[in-house]
Order: sequence, then C-alpha cells, then structure tokens
Amino acid sequence: MSTASQSQETITTRCCVVGGGPAGMMLGFLLARSGVEVVVLEKHRDFLRDFRGDTIHPSTLELLAELGLLTEFLQLPHQELRAVQATVNGQTVPIADFAHLPTQCKFIAFMPQWDFLNFLAAKGKQYPTFRLHLQTEATDLMEEKGAIVGVQATTPTGKLIIRADLVVGTDGRNSLVRQKAGLSVQDFGVPIDVLWMRIPKDPAIGEMSLGYFKSGKFMVLIDRHDYFQCGYIIPKGQFDSIKQRGIAALQADIRELAPFVGDQVNELNSWDQVSLLTVKVDRLRQWYKPGLLCIGDAAHAMSPAGGVGVNMAIQDAVATANLLTGSLQEGPVGVQQLASVQRRRQWPVRVIQAGQIAVHKRLINASITQPAVVPPYIIWLFRHVPLIRRLPAYLIGIGPRPEHIRTTVN
Ligand SMILES: Cc1cc2nc3c(=O)[nH]c(=O)nc-3n(C[C@H](O)[C@H](O)[C@H](O)COP(=O)(O)OP(=O)(O)OC[C@H]3O[C@@H](n4cnc5c(N)ncnc54)[C@H](O)[C@@H]3O)c2cc1C
Repeated sequence: MSTASQSQETITTRCCVVGGGPAGMMLGFLLARSGVEVVVLEKHRDFLRDFRGDTIHPSTLELLAELGLLTEFLQLPHQELRAVQATVNGQTVPIADFAHLPTQCKFIAFMPQWDFLNFLAAKGKQYPTFRLHLQTEATDLMEEKGAIVGVQATTPTGKLIIRADLVVGTDGRNSLVRQKAGLSVQDFGVPIDVLWMRIPKDPAIGEMSLGYFKSGKFMVLIDRHDYFQCGYIIPKGQFDSIKQRGIAALQADIRELAPFVGDQVNELNSWDQVSLLTVKVDRLRQWYKPGLLCIGDAAHAMSPAGGVGVNMAIQDAVATANLLTGSLQEGPVGVQQLASVQRRRQWPVRVIQAGQIAVHKRLINASITQPAVVPPYIIWLFRHVPLIRRLPAYLIGIGPRPEHIRTTVN
C-alpha cells in the first residue's frame, strides 16, 4: 500500500531493512524468497563502495549452493584463494589452508563486493515482495506505545515513511538505527586504523601473500587484477603525523614491504587518493527491542582482522531469516523471537571478536610498534606442521556455528 503527497510518501510493509550491505541484502533476499514483504533502504545510489570487504567465504558459497545459486554466482569474475599466506620479514609463512573444509568450495572467492550485492539485489528483485530503495537514507525511527513501528527516511524527491511490523538495522558500524533506538554498546577499543588506497598493478604479477609484516610495518594487499587494493595499518589517531612525513615516505614503506609493486607505487602521489578507515570492535548488549532488531556490524562492529566481518553479517542474516520468517509471514514478531536471534548469534560473534582483539593486541599492535613481529617458533610451526593451518582456515572460512538455509521458496 502506498499513499503520496507532494513531498512525503508512506509505505506499509512487513519488514523494513535499513542498510543494503551484506547483512541487509541477504536478509532482504531471503525474506522475499519466502514471500515476506520487505523493503530494503540503502543510502547510496549504488553499491560501488571501495572500502567494502571483498571476501566471499566458503560458508557463504555453501549457502549459495543451498540456494541453488552457486554455479551462476561463480560465473562472475572472481579469484579463488585456496590458502592464505603472509610475508614476515621477507619470509613466506602459510597461515590457513582451506583444502580440508567440509564445504563444496574450498576457497575464498575474492570479488568486488558491489558485484556480490548486485547479484543479491537481482535475485531479490525476482520476487514481487522485494523492494530496494536506493538513495534512501533512514533518518529516524518511529515509536508508538514503546514499540518501533517504522522508519523515516529522506530520498532525492522528499521524505519517505516506512511503516513496518519489524525494522531490522543492518546499517553497519556507525548504525543510526542502534543509536536512535538507544541500544547500549560495549566498545572494546582498537589500537589501529587503516589507510585504504589503490596501487596500479601489472596483471602479470602472480601469486602473492595477503599480509606483509616488516620492520614494524604491516600491510594487506588484495589483488584486483589490474590494481592492488592496499590496506596499510597505522596506530590509531596517527594519520596526521603520517601525512607530515609526506607521501613519498608512504610510497617507500609500501615498496619496502612489497618490493614487487615497483614504480607503480609512485602513481599514489596525493593524500586525496588515501582514505582513512577507522577500525572498531564493539557489540550491543541487547540487539533488539519491541519492533526492532540489529544484526551485522550494526549489532557488533567487526575489525578487518581475519577478513571475517562479511561472513558474520551473512550468517546473522541467515539466522534471522530462519528464526523469524514464520512469524513475519503472519504478522508482528514478538520480543522473545527477536531475543532468539541474539541467543543464536551472540556466541559465534563473541568468539570471533575475542580472536580479533587478541590479534590486535599481540600481533598487529606489536608489529607497528616493534620490529620483531611474530615469535620464530610460531613461524616454524605454521611452516612445518600443516595440521595447524586447519584451525585458522576453519575460523576464517566457516566460523563457529555455521548457519544453513532453513527457509523455503514461497
Ligand atoms: C578497513 C576494513 C576492511 C575490511 N575488510 C574486510 C574483508 O576483507 N572481509 C570481511 O569479511 N570483512 C571486512 N571488514 C569488515 C566488514 O566490512 C564488515 O564486518 C561488514 O561489511 C559488515 O556488513 P554489514 O552488512 O553489517 O554492514 P555494512 O557492510 O557496513 O553495510 C551497511 C550498509 O548500510 C548503509 N547505510 C548506513 N547508514 C544508512 C542509513 N542511515 N540509511 C540507509 N542505509 C544506510 C551503508 O551505505 C551500507 O551499504 C573490513 C572492515 C574494515 C573497517
């Protein structure tokens, strides 16, 4: 149902999902696939964000297989990362080997996230109950008698009111939804930020590491065929002092860590080409209130450590669909059912966040303050005991308590 006036439109739907990232698009698609009316709001005009994680994990590929979409999905351009290795002081160290995962795809698919989100959007649009509103930014929640009953948003043409039985906040780590809902956040503090930039790449450069540690510096390089997406780790709050050293010093650091980037790094010649991404790890104490649920980074902001935030967001979406679809097909969702989503997902999130915090403290923070980054016996173990590489492979590739598709096509 929709009523329009000059500058304000009102839509009524069963579920309003705020934020078209991995969590929001997967949830929107799954609900629509089961015949639930869903409206997904995304503030940007498209999915072309440069700073989104590019990793599609084996667990997500398994979900796509369960949905019957895997073959089509893998036709999109992607790279297959079957093992993760790091280069520590020039020495290559294998970290994770996905060969033994109990999944069909024993690799991480590297794909620009906009391709993945466009794929989910196209699949969602095949169902009449799916509506995606781009360039629509949620600005406030609507509350009646202690329950959230909808969302106010702005669009290029005016104001949009979305009345819904359930609002799901999937609007990421700076979530407006959780802030407006007054949900209390536990912040775990993170000692790092990331400088995010592109460096042109010779497509002929072959297999390389994902992480590079040397002389107290740490960098991640993602191969995007004709350019590297580079994440250079800095101590939190130090961007200004790094800028004062000049862009040539940053070029030299990158060249020292990964000499094969060559003179192409000189094309990174202005701070305008460098984005500062602030890293957070936090978690809501309670992910819900009457009429509202938060999932993904909106419920628990994930650090880039381990590259697992996208996986957690997708797993949250699948659990939410599994637990709430039945009720949403009928009408409003009770608070007890919302609580069941938190109960289901809180433990895996705690495990992964604890791991990320440990990595920040013991590894990344040490690497950017002291030259000796990893104890030699750890390097020896990873190089000579292949079994050890299976645990990080499982945590990165699948994660604790993996979800499976339990909903059906309606
Ligand atoms: C530097 C960095 C690198 C990372 N790299 C990786 C990686 O390689 N692999 C990995 O798995 N994880 C990575 N992560 C973590 C990962 O990005 C997040 O955990 C993941 O994106 C969370 O997904 P989400 O759907 O919950 O939120 P998001 O991906 O943040 O999506 C939220 C969406 O909501 C939209 N939105 C926000 N506010 C509003 C509003 N008011 N109205 C409407 N729409 C709104 C946003 O535009 C966005 O599209 C990285 C994180 C950082 C900081």
